[in-house]
Amino acid sequence: MASILADVDRLVVPGLTHWNHPSFHAYFSISASGPAILADLLAAAFNVNAMLWKAGPVATELETVTLSWLRQLTGLPPSFEGIIYDTASTAVPHALVCARERLGLGVRERGLAGRAELPRLRVYCSEQAHSSIEKAAILVGFGQEGLRKLPVDDAFRMRADLLAAAIEEDRRHGWRPCCVVATVGTTGTASIDPVPAIAEVTERHGLWLHVDASYAGPAAIVPEHRGVLAGCDRADSLVMNPHKWLFVPIDLSVFYTRHMDVLRRAFSLIPEYLKTDEDAGARNYMDYGIQLGRRFRALKLWFVIRYFGAQGIVERLRDHIRLARLLAERIEADPDFEMAAPLSLSLVCFRYRPRSLAAKLSRSAGPERLLVEREIDGRNQQLLETVNGSGKLFLSHTRLNDRMVLRFAIGNIRTGEAHVLRAWDTIRHAAAGAMAHVGGNDV
Ligand code: PLP
Repeated sequence: MASILADVDRLVVPGLTHWNHPSFHAYFSISASGPAILADLLAAAFNVNAMLWKAGPVATELETVTLSWLRQLTGLPPSFEGIIYDTASTAVPHALVCARERLGLGVRERGLAGRAELPRLRVYCSEQAHSSIEKAAILVGFGQEGLRKLPVDDAFRMRADLLAAAIEEDRRHGWRPCCVVATVGTTGTASIDPVPAIAEVTERHGLWLHVDASYAGPAAIVPEHRGVLAGCDRADSLVMNPHKWLFVPIDLSVFYTRHMDVLRRAFSLIPEYLKTDEDAGARNYMDYGIQLGRRFRALKLWFVIRYFGAQGIVERLRDHIRLARLLAERIEADPDFEMAAPLSLSLVCFRYRPRSLAAKLSRSAGPERLLVEREIDGRNQQLLETVNGSGKLFLSHTRLNDRMVLRFAIGNIRTGEAHVLRAWDTIRHAAAGAMAHVGGNDV
């Protein structure tokens, strides 16, 4: 064991990307908190497989209890019940299959292929939705053409009017609209789709509404941000990821639905060796998804909620949101930088736009303007590489309106003001260094 552990230091640690470091600001910054790490160790040691109630009574009961706590903390109504999957990417195909099952097309029994009477099914999301939606459409047989991505407004949110128009147009052309996926906290900018207006549309057309609140769902625990889940009580299903912004090590994703009966109808298949004689009240979570074998994931969520408590969680999430605002204020006050999307929760999207190039941009039009834009993109790419190459912090990027944008996500439990201010210093110095290299900052 000593030599294995020595090799961990020698061979494994140098090869890590340090997701659990307070200066990790790429993607969505996450945390494995101490209590949850301990719980995961215990879960590994217990090694129960929570497929049936009798195969893991306490794992089953604790899953129900912790998901009820999380539901209450985020203000979702009691009509939502949940199940833990590994990731949000696993949750989406479950939502799509439920949506299809509810249409009563007999797909579970007869499949999709070779059925002339079956209309083509369509799913809707915004063009800012996560790629897992498209993967799910591929996986469950809707195909990439079965997903229609709708344009967003200038704050990167789905437009409910365009959704309604797309559904009506599709119906006229013989598609069968099936499901809408709204996002609360998009990957690119943490924008929040207008779920109440989207729910109006899905209710009018009888479509399943799935909400991807993978990142932003936990923000609803903070009283002044409860509104992020406004309208989600009208969703048919919703996913949120405690492994993103609730201090639980990957993986733990919670799938809530108001229709556990539909989920069960879609997925339950009980071979002889798994038949049980418990009374009907016992929940066998294997009936509610594709997985049979299931880790005791609820334990780490139980530890987090008990250890930090509701108030402790509120304070930490609130602080991340405060730190994001602090950084956004610095960016807005710097003439060589600009915000690239409205600030949302703990994600800051910004762009290096040196004064000299900004002036050039304002003087140019057409193809020349495009060239300046590409030059600014290049500077941002260079900045990203310099900052990440410094090893002091880690950022990621996205493209918005065909422009390169840097993303600074705050979500690690140990990230404090000093980390964010130091990171901002590093970014500014790297940018100034790059400008000095190409001939200064002056217009
Ligand atoms: N949805 C959103 C909005 C995301 O940002 C992500 C990942 O960052 C996902 C879904 C996929 O999450 P997972 O890794 O749990 O599949």
